Amino acid sequence: VLQPEKPRQPRIIAIANQKGGVGKTTTAINLGAALAKAGHEVLLIDLDPQGNASTGLGLAPEARRLTTYDVLIEGAPIRNAIRDTAQERLRVVPATVDLSSADLELVGKERRSFLLRSAIRPSQLAELGVDYVLIDCPPSLSLLTVNAMVAAHSILVPLQSEFFALEGLSQLMLTVREVRQTANPDLRIEGVLLTMHDARNRLAQQVEADARETLGELVFTTVIPRNVRVSEAPSYALPVLDYDPGSKGAMAYASLADELRRNHTRLAA
Ligand code: ADP
Ligand code: MG
Repeated sequence: VLQPEKPRQPRIIAIANQKGGVGKTTTAINLGAALAKAGHEVLLIDLDPQGNASTGLGLAPEARRLTTYDVLIEGAPIRNAIRDTAQERLRVVPATVDLSSADLELVGKERRSFLLRSAIRPSQLAELGVDYVLIDCPPSLSLLTVNAMVAAHSILVPLQSEFFALEGLSQLMLTVREVRQTANPDLRIEGVLLTMHDARNRLAQQVEADARETLGELVFTTVIPRNVRVSEAPSYALPVLDYDPGSKGAMAYASLADELRRNHTRLAA
């Protein structure tokens, strides 16, 4: 825990899927907490106007003095918007409902897709001592999500193990391709994460088999089970890793963090 294997440079990972309710925010909070517990400095950027990640980490609305909105639209320095959470090494840039007007306000701006990238330049992240940046995207392929893809090294795609889960992926991949062609040629797919998985459910088994067959190595070995402790944790303003460390959900997110770290060690080698 004291001397984690650090990525050579901060990794910026956008957690994206235009479908709502697939586990983006849950993954941002719990993967963030698991990486922090492994000794990494983690910054979670809440890019969803619903602010669920901020709430789930215990940031009361009045504690959200400066938010992602101020950073993107008003040009506030990101370090002024960063808040600590109860979890050591896990910090957050909170969001409020203000952010819902950002898409419209961005339309007129010349560098509208590059605002987040400008806000988290490597020099700024180095100054903050951040190892991982996790961006919790809204449930759309809006300019906010595009900002995340332009700023990120990779995207992590949570996929709920249900019928039609794979269909939304092609649209997401079109956006990824567009971003690669225009703004961020090196954007990688970090991985597709099966979430809310019920291993006894035939349909879920089928979705997993299909995903592994069509996407191969892109699918994380770790699967996140459906687990009531995961859904209870946010109402206690805690990651599930603190709320119930022995739960299946907590162990799955810890294993996801290990898998991710191994991939980065391999990439850096
Ligand atoms: P998104 O950010 O993609 O909209 P959320 O992370 O908010 O999705 O998850 C949607 C709902 O599903 C939330 O109520 C959350 O608590 C619940 N949920 C997410 N992951 C799990 C899980 N592994 N087990 C049980 N419930 C989950
Ligand atoms: Mg969400």
